[in-house]
Amino acid sequence: MAKRLLGKEVTAALNERIKADVAALEEKGVKPTLCIIRVGENESDISYERGATKRCETLGVACEKILLPADVSQDELLAAIDKVNKDDKVHGVLLFRPLPKHLDQSVIENALDPAKDVDCMTDGSMSGVFTGKNVGFPPCTPQACMEILDHYGIDCTGKKAVVVGRSLVVGKPAAMMLIKKNATVTICHTRTVDMPSVVREADIVIVAAGRAGVIDDTYLSAGQTVIDVGINVNAEGKLCGDVDFEKAEPVVDAITPVPGGVGSVTTSVLVGHVVEAAKRKFA
Ligand code: NAP
Repeated sequence: MAKRLLGKEVTAALNERIKADVAALEEKGVKPTLCIIRVGENESDISYERGATKRCETLGVACEKILLPADVSQDELLAAIDKVNKDDKVHGVLLFRPLPKHLDQSVIENALDPAKDVDCMTDGSMSGVFTGKNVGFPPCTPQACMEILDHYGIDCTGKKAVVVGRSLVVGKPAAMMLIKKNATVTICHTRTVDMPSVVREADIVIVAAGRAGVIDDTYLSAGQTVIDVGINVNAEGKLCGDVDFEKAEPVVDAITPVPGGVGSVTTSVLVGHVVEAAKRKFA
């Protein structure tokens, strides 16, 4: 049976580091502060907002909110971003996306100061992921995957890694982060030919396909570490990942469950970015 890589264990260790940084900042009179900007009343945004607010409270990070109606104009939203850019008390900003269709998402995303871009929505932050330069912050989800690998001492150097999914939010940045860790990386997507044999060859597999149970035991082999990023709802209405956990667990060496894996680490990574943004400002 595979070892379960549990998000709560990673989060507990991460939270301790964050609390120590918050205490050090407080000694300098700095209260790290996140500002959440939400447009409209999307249920999943509200749910993520609730989790982030609670995590901020637990870790001693202030959390402000700017709540705007779904029909907010482009100018009003840009004015809100300009306000937080200029507000010295705000260190990090989270804007939920996708935005309503009448808004130009790219213009709005890039209006944010990359120094406050704790969720990698600006081109500046994304360039930092690909160039390795310290611009902005990497996206929280792939970084949560790296935190899990680090926490459990899974060394990537010289290992073969496969990432299933090539989105800009998860797949591509995850591949860049694995390369930074000296893995040899292959990215799979819907046009990949004979994906089972490609995935079976990997030592480390990160799955971000957004399809419930798309990776089963026919894609997997002994000794692998599997990180499942997927969040799906199955036919019985239960949360499940992109990996068929029941079939994968007897085969591989280590695996993250869903729920209880990557998702639970992501929120602490976000709060950690806010604290890091405050540290960079006062370094
Ligand atoms: P996305 O934008 O829909 O991208 C999915 C990627 O997977 C695409 O590149 C697609 O290939 C590829 N793909 C889909 N089906 C495939 C298949 N059968 N075989 C091979 N490749 C396949 O999704 P995303 O935003 O990256 O999110 C991926 C998953 O992660 C979703 O379940 C999402 O809910 C979850 N997620 C979790 C967190 C967290 O905190 N845990 C955060 C964000 C997202 P093509 O490019 O060829 O279409």
